Amino acid sequence: MIALEKSRPEPGLWRVEAPVPEIGPEDVLIRINKTGICGTDIHIWNWDDWARRTVPVPLITGHEFAGEIVELGRDVTGLEIGQRCSGEGHLIGRHSRQSRAGRFHLDPETRGIGVNEQGAFAEYLRLPAFNVVPLPDAVDDEIGAILDPLGNAVHTALSFDLVGEDVLITGAGPIGIMAAAVARHVGARHVVITDVNQTRLDLAARVADVVPVNVAREDLRDVAGRLKMREGFDVGLEMSGSQAALDQMVESLVMGGRIALLGIPPGKSPVDWSRIVFKAITLKGIYGREIFETWYKMIAMLENGLDIRAVITHRFAARDFRDGFETMRGGASGKVVLDWRR
Ligand code: NAD
Ligand code: ZN
Repeated sequence: MIALEKSRPEPGLWRVEAPVPEIGPEDVLIRINKTGICGTDIHIWNWDDWARRTVPVPLITGHEFAGEIVELGRDVTGLEIGQRCSGEGHLIGRHSRQSRAGRFHLDPETRGIGVNEQGAFAEYLRLPAFNVVPLPDAVDDEIGAILDPLGNAVHTALSFDLVGEDVLITGAGPIGIMAAAVARHVGARHVVITDVNQTRLDLAARVADVVPVNVAREDLRDVAGRLKMREGFDVGLEMSGSQAALDQMVESLVMGGRIALLGIPPGKSPVDWSRIVFKAITLKGIYGREIFETWYKMIAMLENGLDIRAVITHRFAARDFRDGFETMRGGASGKVVLDWRR
């Protein structure tokens, strides 16, 4: 089969001929139809410090996918050949306290497809049947291929009750934009999204009914005043990994405000701790998606009017993956999807 592999410990990915994976008794074999390119894949392409420390070479990369089941392991029940699916790319252990309590997404033994294990940028993927998420007709393959990052957005956005609340999202990357759409869908009052990249703010306004603010040019306080927010935002969703954005968020929240932190800062990042104490702010770190509660909820929302399709700005055939990665690296795109069937 054709696959995109990190074949050498240097920047780039290579298109290779690889054997179709053999499946075990509890696995399925998935024929990949579409895949999404993630920020993580860009780190792996660039071969930065994190990637060097984390990713074994050679490795087939990619973890955002949709496809269909073409083979079932001996012991697999409840799934069928031909079933369209996506799936959770975190392969969990069964031994930790968190895992045994059913909090699978918090298992410390987690290994990621396309990061530690063979990934989805390939014509075929082996996946434990446990990780498979069947797709209803309402969720087509290109949306199926971005459920992984939509899951990050949904898990973060649903961390706190947003009904009637004023929500600030910092970072209009694909995940911030999808979180904005989710916040609107579940009934937030005002949703303001900030970035320093105007192209991305324009995209955010096309995807969701939000107020985009370019913090390089505009003062967030003026915007809050214009929206008649007397005391500040109730909830913050940090989706940029930028120190400046977090500082601004803490400043613009109400007393007792709540912040969910998804963005990953590049290194250690100082926090004005006393400001958080005296404002009685709740901070919650967010990792991945809840397995499988987030999957359940996001598919239910997609079946009931949540529309995030416009966050996909570019589509390429998988053989043109270099163009896809170039587009992502340019920083002006939303999600980029590769088609493995053309
Ligand atoms: P992205 O890099 O595409 O988007 C981040 C955006 O933040 C960019 O558009 C950037 O211009 C913007 N930004 C930079 N400085 C800013 C500032 N001062 N104010 C406002 N915005 C600013 O990332 P993404 O793919 O949308 O992911 C969002 C974040 O979530 C990233 O940091 C990513 O690493 C992280 N992430 C975390 C998890 C997790 O499990 N915790 C999972 C996936 C992604
Ligand atoms: Zn991803």
